[in-house]
Amino acid sequence: MNYRNYRIMEKIENKENLIVRPPIVAVMGHIDHGKTKLLDAIRKSNVVEGESGGITQHIGAYEIIMDSESDEYRGRKITFLDTPGHEAFSKIRERGAQVADIAVLVVAADDGVKPQTIEAIKSIEDAKIPYIVAINKIDKPEANPNQVRTQLAENNIFLEDWGGKIPVVEISAKENTNIQHLLEMILLVADLEELKSNPSLETKGIVIESKMDKNRGPIATIIIKEGVLKIGDNILTSTAEGKLKILENFKGEKIKEATFSSPVSVGGFKKMPQVGELFLAGEKIDRELLKKELADKKDISSDMLDLDKDGKIINLIIKADVSGSLEAIENIIKKLKLERVSLRIINSSIGDISNSDIQMAKDSPAWIFGFKINIPKSLNPQIQEKNIHIHIFDIIYDLEKFLKEKLEIISQKEEEMIKAELRVLKTFSKQGKKQLIGGVVEEGKIKKGLVIIQREEKEIGRGRIMGLQCHKKDIAEAEKGMECGILLETAVDISPDDHLINS
Ligand code: GDP
Repeated sequence: MNYRNYRIMEKIENKENLIVRPPIVAVMGHIDHGKTKLLDAIRKSNVVEGESGGITQHIGAYEIIMDSESDEYRGRKITFLDTPGHEAFSKIRERGAQVADIAVLVVAADDGVKPQTIEAIKSIEDAKIPYIVAINKIDKPEANPNQVRTQLAENNIFLEDWGGKIPVVEISAKENTNIQHLLEMILLVADLEELKSNPSLETKGIVIESKMDKNRGPIATIIIKEGVLKIGDNILTSTAEGKLKILENFKGEKIKEATFSSPVSVGGFKKMPQVGELFLAGEKIDRELLKKELADKKDISSDMLDLDKDGKIINLIIKADVSGSLEAIENIIKKLKLERVSLRIINSSIGDISNSDIQMAKDSPAWIFGFKINIPKSLNPQIQEKNIHIHIFDIIYDLEKFLKEKLEIISQKEEEMIKAELRVLKTFSKQGKKQLIGGVVEEGKIKKGLVIIQREEKEIGRGRIMGLQCHKKDIAEAEKGMECGILLETAVDISPDDHLINS
């Protein structure tokens, strides 16, 4: 496949060598609303040139060539992402929207707007890409497309035929109704977006799937967003690199080069790249260029390069049965950040726990988290000897719950260890041992409980904060910079400029 042969790629601006590129489309929506059926219907009704038996290979994305009656659309290409739709893997789906230029939101006419519909809308809006609503299953007797319109309007989504801006097509994926119309709508939106790319720019794109092939090593499905990818190119992501030895189109046919919007399978990575990562490829590429690219794009993977964070960092080694689970766990972990503790994945890979995982856990040190994998019995002596923490889970939710609880305990401990200091500004009243004072927090967070009282940096006694108020309201804690009123129980006569320090 040679990019110069693409019929659709007319030159728009000669000077900048920009050419129209096919849109990359993500199909999203609630489970059972017909995403898979729609992707199948599109695949079948737009048989790719030269192909008779349909596409058997599944690589997470496919390309169609429009077989439209209209000259405007006939022969144009669209790439569809066929990303895993499992519930727990919502982040991969969200990433689907980030790779994508356009989303199709599928809503079943017999079921209406559901929680995952709203979730999908949110991730589409986060990705800032245009979308089309496909009201599906209109063949069903109980279908009520207008109810879908009403429910969407209740969620502030106003469709084009109801005076809004979001295009809508009523379809039946089962009976192939209006599928061509939907595809034309996608191209119309793509034209409005003026999707263009420059084939002479450096090659870059996104990894959408990766797996270990027994015979061929790490194999990734990637989508090219710019430039041309050739056999022999060096290829680099945040976590993996290699030299392109295998390049296949989505039908599994060997090719020598590919260009933007094309989904291709590639082999030659030394280790598995991760789903959602940006890649750069070319004769010469280096890590500095990738870092710059990631910083510009604020790519999800960029936080892997940003290792210097304040607070306590817990290193993790993640092992899982398949790359989808690995991705899901990594995304859960990335979201789990508390003020004083952050988790850092130092290594993640597929397969059972190995000797080198144990060594790495010892050297770093790191905790090991496994998902649906085993610990070979032969490693038990080393695990015990080196005192390695290993936690194995079968359910992602359990892993998330465990980590959350652990993090909170650690975070609380860290917080308790941080010094909190208040400077007394004024004393108001004294009744027995109870004194009412006003002060400003100079460090940390002041809470109820025991305090040390210092005068000119020397301890002059101890006391207990019984109550805290700010603007006449009771508060649980006062942060740095806040002025607050304090009811203090102590035998010491407090004066302005005394300091209260947590103990
Ligand atoms: P997904 O979970 O969104 O991928 O949903 P599927 O594509 O698996 O579809 C869920 C169910 O709805 C399947 O039984 C499909 O055959 C059925 N389905 C999908 N589209 C249509 C449609 O247009 N009409 C009817 N009657 N059934 C459909």
